[in-house]
Amino acid sequence: METTLRGVGVSHGVAIGEVRHMGTAVLEPPAKQIPAEEAEREQGRARQAVEAVAADLMARGNLAGGEAQAVLEAQAMMAQDPELMVDVERRIAVGSTAERAVYDAFAAYRELLAGAGEYLAGRVADLDDVRNRIVARLLGVPMPGVPDSDEPYVLVARDLAPADTALLDPTLVLGFVTEEGGPTSHSAILARALGVPAVVALPGAGELAEGTMIAVDGSTGEIFVHPSDERKAQLRAAAAERKAALAGSTGPGATADGHKVPLLANVGGPADVPAAVEAGAEGVGLFRTEFLFLDDSKNAPSEEKQVEAYRQVLEAFPEGRVVVRVLDAGADKPLDFLTPADEPNPALGVRGLRTLLDHPEVLRTQLTALAKAAEGLPVHLEVMAPMVADRADAKAFADACRAAGLRAKFGAMVEIPSAALRARSILREVEFLSLGTNDLAQYTFAADRQVGAVSRLQDPWQPALLDLVALAAEAAGAEGKSCGVCGEAASDPLLACVLTGLGVTSLSMGAASIPYVRATLAKYTLAQCERAAAAARATDSAEEARSAAQAVLSGE
Ligand code: PEP
Ligand code: MG
Repeated sequence: METTLRGVGVSHGVAIGEVRHMGTAVLEPPAKQIPAEEAEREQGRARQAVEAVAADLMARGNLAGGEAQAVLEAQAMMAQDPELMVDVERRIAVGSTAERAVYDAFAAYRELLAGAGEYLAGRVADLDDVRNRIVARLLGVPMPGVPDSDEPYVLVARDLAPADTALLDPTLVLGFVTEEGGPTSHSAILARALGVPAVVALPGAGELAEGTMIAVDGSTGEIFVHPSDERKAQLRAAAAERKAALAGSTGPGATADGHKVPLLANVGGPADVPAAVEAGAEGVGLFRTEFLFLDDSKNAPSEEKQVEAYRQVLEAFPEGRVVVRVLDAGADKPLDFLTPADEPNPALGVRGLRTLLDHPEVLRTQLTALAKAAEGLPVHLEVMAPMVADRADAKAFADACRAAGLRAKFGAMVEIPSAALRARSILREVEFLSLGTNDLAQYTFAADRQVGAVSRLQDPWQPALLDLVALAAEAAGAEGKSCGVCGEAASDPLLACVLTGLGVTSLSMGAASIPYVRATLAKYTLAQCERAAAAARATDSAEEARSAAQAVLSGE
């Protein structure tokens, strides 16, 4: 029978398919004794599991190519280490089950590695992953990480970190459902980047049985478990209707009376560029360069590799604007070689620009690579720093850009309330502002963007957030400088009108949202947007703000 669950819809569209769970950590197998006559069979099971996991890792390596292939092949070799196998068989011979013997043999090997110098210690996480895979196979539970499936599926997870999804095959993922995460979590951002429907903050998502047929409505946040044929047809028809309504929306972003609001794309690397071009993005408003660093969390990518990636993005927008954000590591995007491991509260610790100022060589390489990538191209390159707190931060960043000989505009992201409150002082050092409303909401409401339970406070319609946006936009306007929004707030069509009314000068979002925002913005004049913004700010809650803006725009 059909049942309905409700979460927060964060990426438009409808997905209908079977549930596949993101495999979670493997539990310790119980230490039970087996009779001696079963030892041989258990040893056979262990050998088979090891071979299957090694073959799977090699196959995934072939698929992934590049540096991921080298890592996966090294893992396959770890799995097949002959000494490890000898230890596993010995443990089974004295009464262990295959899974327990693998677990214990890897634990002993792990200790050896951990004490054997920095390089080998760095491989411990890879070794744990191999162990988890073999144990999962022996226990018959889902593999940790991205599901192994040749058929398209709806991915269900507790939450998705960027590193979890590096190997995700976008042609197989019909949609995302997560238990945690709010509208600004990386699951939501990734879903929008891939253009697949997604629902986050769905309590009980973890209990949906593997293989259950569900329908996901990414616009309303509804999940239909065992949807009826009638429901499926109705959802498909509604999605097709929405898509058809958008087909007529083309050209640069503007209000009905011609006030221009460039619509830019958020990208994570060259792979996102075709979708941005196809959606008619007028440039890139946020290039999240940290995705280039996630392949290998132990080293920064070489200058050459960075030049190549930056150039591919810059070349795609020959006359357009491309805003590159320098590395934003830390908090929910930790990098082993940069992020302190022992911070009690990483979101309030050394992250973003703070990390780069502690590691000036990483910033220097990135800025030099950007300067080289832009050489000879007519593109309007703009470079900005994440997590700027005050004027001193903005000055340190601008100084580093000048020292690297970068010919670009330098800007600051407004993600910390102090930066919005003192935007004018920051604008003494930089030429533009870009509002990162995801982190700005997180820090304004003391509400972790990873935690589903506080997603109410992550709602970008919160009037307090709108006040901060207005402060930054007014400061930039007074200085004759630009102030865009590149947080997820820009991808909500109605909110995009309100942001325009608050004085924001450009909107940057996942490519899939651009047609929705363009079509809505074109329906209203700047004066209507300003009235909607004033009405939203005059309320006391996100829900009231949304209704007030809606009422103004629909002329109620
Ligand atoms: C933001 O915080 O709004 C932002 C755009 O940066 P990110 O989501 O990458 O932290
Ligand atoms: Mg941010």
